[in-house]
Amino acid sequence: MTLAKAVSTRYNKTIEKCSSKEIFFAILDMIKELAKEKEINEGKKKVYYISAEFLIGKLLSNNLINLGLYEAVDAELRASGKSIAEIEEAEPEPSLGNGGLGRLAACFLDSIATLGINGDGVGLNYHYGLFQQKFQNNLQVEAPNPWITMQSWLTKTEKTYPVLFGGFTVQSRMYDIDVIGYNNCTTKLHLFDIESVNENLVGDTIDFNKEDIAGNLTLFLYPDDSDDKGRLLRVYQQYFMVSNAARLILEEAEAKGSNLHDLADYAVVQINDTHPSMIIPELIRLLQEKGFLMDEAISVVSKVCAYTNHTILAEALEKWPLAFLEKAVPQLVPIIRELDNRVRRKVKDETTYIIADDLVHMAHMDIHYGFSVNGVAHLHTEILKDAELNNFYKLYPQKFNNKTNGITFRRWLMLCNPELSALITELIGDGWKQNATELEKLGAYAKDRAVLEKLLEVKSLKKAQLCEYLELTQGIRPDDKAIFDIQVKRLHEYKRQQMNALYVIHKYFEIKEGKKPTIPINVFFGGKAAAAYIIAKDIIHLILCLQEIVNNDPEVSPYLKVFMVENYNVTLAEKMIPACDISEQISLASKEASGTGNMKFMLNGAVTLGTMDGANVEIAQLVGKDNIFTFGEDSQTVIDRYARKDYKSRDYYEKNKKLKRAVDFIVSDEMMEVGCSENLERLYKELLNKDWFMTFPDFDMYTAAREKAYDAYADRSSWAAKMLVNISMAGFFSSDRTIEQYNNEIWKLN
Ligand SMILES: *Cc1c(COP(=O)(O)O)cnc(C)c1O
Repeated sequence: MTLAKAVSTRYNKTIEKCSSKEIFFAILDMIKELAKEKEINEGKKKVYYISAEFLIGKLLSNNLINLGLYEAVDAELRASGKSIAEIEEAEPEPSLGNGGLGRLAACFLDSIATLGINGDGVGLNYHYGLFQQKFQNNLQVEAPNPWITMQSWLTKTEKTYPVLFGGFTVQSRMYDIDVIGYNNCTTKLHLFDIESVNENLVGDTIDFNKEDIAGNLTLFLYPDDSDDKGRLLRVYQQYFMVSNAARLILEEAEAKGSNLHDLADYAVVQINDTHPSMIIPELIRLLQEKGFLMDEAISVVSKVCAYTNHTILAEALEKWPLAFLEKAVPQLVPIIRELDNRVRRKVKDETTYIIADDLVHMAHMDIHYGFSVNGVAHLHTEILKDAELNNFYKLYPQKFNNKTNGITFRRWLMLCNPELSALITELIGDGWKQNATELEKLGAYAKDRAVLEKLLEVKSLKKAQLCEYLELTQGIRPDDKAIFDIQVKRLHEYKRQQMNALYVIHKYFEIKEGKKPTIPINVFFGGKAAAAYIIAKDIIHLILCLQEIVNNDPEVSPYLKVFMVENYNVTLAEKMIPACDISEQISLASKEASGTGNMKFMLNGAVTLGTMDGANVEIAQLVGKDNIFTFGEDSQTVIDRYARKDYKSRDYYEKNKKLKRAVDFIVSDEMMEVGCSENLERLYKELLNKDWFMTFPDFDMYTAAREKAYDAYADRSSWAAKMLVNISMAGFFSSDRTIEQYNNEIWKLN
């Protein structure tokens, strides 16, 4: 089918005469039709990847690439004076996720489809996502982020279930999004919604009536949980998600001939972090309804569920008050109590109990009653085994395993960087598109001047493209000849954007003193702070104030500029990552489970400046010490220091003049002129009195490593060789490899 034909049957006009929106809808229909013709693996056993988030990004180009139609459609559009890039602007980015965990789920679905694995995603159909980030007066403000239009990637299905909550019932409806693999099969992302959803509960802000569950349940991802009403709403959401999922799973298994005693031959559930943990008691409950005894039900479900841990931040491990469950989902409470009682009878170690102080520890339930527990990078899994979950590891060593995260190279190289993809293919052929480790063949060109030159040309081109895009969409004007030093990711203290900002202040002072960098530096930040996360929002405020001060200082701005991009999302990531020279991955060692941004940057020829944390450790091993800039206290030192409880940030502040000068600048007159004293003083005090993520001890090492990276950048050909090594060693981080490991070692399909 040609696009011209699709357009003329729909609108009875030519491509030239159509608006971008019209063309977008025509291609969308065309892709939905083509997806129907693709193969679906209908094998006996299926994996259900259940996740509160799927950060899928725009689908137009991705689907065209995976269908092998990108060039043909682009040629047709160009013949009519248009382009895919232009049409893509008419596509809203689905707001179904928030950060790395959701993006991982999206990469995994792409790989599941591409590898032809029998597996679906299951989640919720949020109407307004997390929020849309806007900046006003150097502060973050949150607005609803609608994305569902009359025509969208969603297909309404006939599947609906009544979902019972304490005292009332809602009716669900399943919507599907096709997940189109690369040159292969398709699979589905099932998103459940409530039939009674009421968009009128939402105005211009993200405030809404949190108690009208039958109207608000699927409006927002992670509604503000700083009060009980918000926390309770999260419980309702989580139960709604898993209750629908559980029924779908049992129904599909039975349709294939399962008697449900053999459910494990038909289904495996991957629980992505603890948001879907209630699937365990819910499956047990449904099996009991079908006449199973408790023993049998537990034994069946324990063979079906596997849990992925994504964090070692204690505050991020979900614990729900029993009282909330009693109100929202009273039918689960006796089951959870029984699960806890069985643990208490069997296990002495009280720290592993499911219910403690009237709180239900969701992860504990997953570990006792799932058959697999995996971390998401080598270091992370080791920390789980040795420290965070050591008590569980002693009980169930055989359950623990590692699955280092990955990213799909279709989106994070072929789609976002066609120029680099073409260069790679020119050099080593296109086998790398199916088998990512073939990228290693690039290693042969590490001394080839002409190739290195071309690599630098591609990078310059991507920087120029980013500058044009940012000027057009955000009105900011970076210097495309500068070093692009980028930190884009959710705003969180453990990720330490504040330490990066302190460096910027330090550099600002140095330039003022006459120590000017030979190559200008542009520092980019991007990321949302949770609406109720006060200190994270203060850090955004600090960065926005710095942007105003630094960029408007004629003495400094020719050498140093700061940009905080608004509303960082997948669309922006696809533009920023290919343009990056230095990838900031500076979390406090032991705190970042894996990171996947680090992998995307590496794949696009950025060099990492990072701590030995998460998957950075594996990156360092792969590229070798000459091709990465690492610094900072190692994870063991950090863990020991937390154990000793003797960290005092003020001691570092008082002993380190440069650090003190940078920290003091936060509350200086210059800052107060452009910022709010309340926010700036709060952040200043937080750093001086707490600095929970230990930015001060790492500050000098960070500064030194960053200077070293900037110096190395000046030697263009040796820098290009570093870029090349990074690209060539990125193959390990293909999510195809990760998914094959999940399948071989956990799911065991086919
Ligand atoms: C990859 C990605 C992330 C995760 O980034 P980390 O640096 O691993 O935290 C977050 N947001 C978006 C939009 C991404 O594409």
